[in-house]
Amino acid sequence: MSFNINTSYLIDCFKDIVNVPSPVGYYVKFKPVLNRYAESLGYTCSYDNRSTGYITVEGEDSSKTVLVGAHADTIGAVVRGIDSDGTLLVRELGGINYSSIEGNTVTVHTRHGRDYTGLFACKYHSVHIFEKARSETRDETNTMVILDERVSSKEDVKALGIQNGDFISFSPNTEITPNGYLKSRFIDNRGAIACVFEAIRYLNENNLKPKYNTIFAFPFDEETGLGGTYVPSEVSEYVAMDIGLIGPEHDGNEYSVSICAKDAANPYDYDLTCRLIDYAKKAGCDYAVDVYKLYGTDGNAAQRGGNNVKSAAFGMAVTCSHSRERTHITGLENTAKLLLAYLLDI
Ligand SMILES: [Zn+2]
Repeated sequence: MSFNINTSYLIDCFKDIVNVPSPVGYYVKFKPVLNRYAESLGYTCSYDNRSTGYITVEGEDSSKTVLVGAHADTIGAVVRGIDSDGTLLVRELGGINYSSIEGNTVTVHTRHGRDYTGLFACKYHSVHIFEKARSETRDETNTMVILDERVSSKEDVKALGIQNGDFISFSPNTEITPNGYLKSRFIDNRGAIACVFEAIRYLNENNLKPKYNTIFAFPFDEETGLGGTYVPSEVSEYVAMDIGLIGPEHDGNEYSVSICAKDAANPYDYDLTCRLIDYAKKAGCDYAVDVYKLYGTDGNAAQRGGNNVKSAAFGMAVTCSHSRERTHITGLENTAKLLLAYLLDI
């Protein structure tokens, strides 16, 4: 069985949602996006107390409820202090690679609604000034945000309404080449969310229901390991859609969908992972099965949370994870196809 994916919808959706900031725990700007897409597809998005979003789609068979998780948070940072020269000290959220953020435009989101842009920079920022500009390790001790405001003291910054604990998001810097390469921050995990919306759109267009009652979940705290630790009690399977990895010893590539057989902690459920591999074959997906070392998903977190569910994970593979990532549009298409095959239990 092959699925005729609407690539234009998928990519337009990605380009739309990748620009809405949601560093770990900062859900205020992305909730309206989830609501808007849910409504455009004929559903409503509900939230639990942790702000995880849920879209529930009735299945042909209501004897079982499955969950597809696509985390809605991204890596980011918070303001941990304001220096005497008016630059901001930062603390990372979700495992950033400091050197890969250097030179990026960032936005500081104050708690009173006003946003300010700035430059993420190393304190040894200029090769013409600092001898160790090239050699200094990039970490939180020598990283700063230079605000795009005329400030030169801590008091100047505070007068803008910026305070410790304000969230900092990174510009995604999205680019799609004419031959289909997608370069952007946050393919992890906006790529998966775009696949979810395309799958729901596909079901609607073709008058199809998923085989089983299906909950699509969008946690805002996956990057710190919490997303998925709570699962609604009726759920028996948690399939996490998240990035696949590319590197030595890995079969995954930018053109196929990657199925994760084992992450840093545990193997994913044997039966469910076998089924995903079968679905990939039946749907004609290019796919790879891999084992990841420095990696986890909300499916893994669901296990650690003690939930009585089977877990599995799959998604589009990227190079340069947690940096400005790259994949190919065919990787997203294969991911959407595998999702549809799972939903329909072909
Ligand atoms: Zn992810």
